[in-house]
Amino acid sequence: MVLPKAELHLHIEGTLEPELAFELAERNGVELPWAGTEALREAYRFQDLQSFLNLYYELMAVLRTERDFEDLADAYLARAAAQGVRHAEIFFDPQAHIARGVGMGTVVEGLWRALGRSRETHGVSTRLIMCFLRDESAESAMATLEEAKPYLDRITGVGLDSAEVGHPPAKFRAVYEAAAALGLRRVAHAGEEGPPAYIAEALDVLGVERIDHGLRCMEDPALVERLVRERVPLTLCPLSNVRLRAVDTLADHPLPAMLDAGLMCTVNSDDPAYFGGYAGDNFDAVQRVLGLSQERLRELARNSFLASFLEDEEELRARYLAEVEAYRWHDTEGAE
Ligand SMILES: [Zn+2]
Repeated sequence: MVLPKAELHLHIEGTLEPELAFELAERNGVELPWAGTEALREAYRFQDLQSFLNLYYELMAVLRTERDFEDLADAYLARAAAQGVRHAEIFFDPQAHIARGVGMGTVVEGLWRALGRSRETHGVSTRLIMCFLRDESAESAMATLEEAKPYLDRITGVGLDSAEVGHPPAKFRAVYEAAAALGLRRVAHAGEEGPPAYIAEALDVLGVERIDHGLRCMEDPALVERLVRERVPLTLCPLSNVRLRAVDTLADHPLPAMLDAGLMCTVNSDDPAYFGGYAGDNFDAVQRVLGLSQERLRELARNSFLASFLEDEEELRARYLAEVEAYRWHDTEGAE
């Protein structure tokens, strides 16, 4: 679906398609344990979180140089642009790379080679958000922020991702305070597999401006009421929720109820190479399976730009919002 939209929940490492993985493996002399792209694509049909994470970290081994990160980002931006993404706020996980000997500078400068020219090459504006791995220590997060200091002109904000349960937001209070003092924007994954209380904690203790996922807020009516009142954006990822079993099937997804409740929802792809689709595919799926009306889809797109970190480019935001309002569906995209 090419409805203009912003993507606000996208892990760049999760955009590595089998073809590019093999190309980078060959370039870098990395041996992959799959016979070819078909066998690897088969491995992408994992059944649970742990097998996903194993594959995800194993494949990162092919990302070695600035050029690798540049190619990865370029491939994502081309696919996203083809599905109507006009603005992308892209997560990256520096700790996962630093741990295997690939430095912060290689990652950030490599990604920036693609992001810095993306408006010209892909027609997509971008922001970069550095995520801390919540199953690593608070000290490691603080050291990562320290390593990022030479690159803060490239980095808009910080986030928190990876295994949620047992790693409450409060563990990262100090590093979020330090990030805020550096002028960085703040988001965090919360309420995906973890309890609704983590959502409130991310808002109250970490001062986040958006909640990534957040679908389990629906278990707590008082929290829903607060999120509606404070207009807290939620970056939902419907196809990811199905693959990682946050919901049994897409038809069970709470998105329609969340919109009915007045929550500020957006639709995103999370790790699209692994979860069965990019941003437009997620929009297509929720239209087809959840029966969202065109006005609901337009609301999701509008929300994505309103929730974007575009405060330094309000004219651009206004232009994107005008594109959303002007968009007309073609017959092939499904009738209302
Ligand atoms: Zn995510």
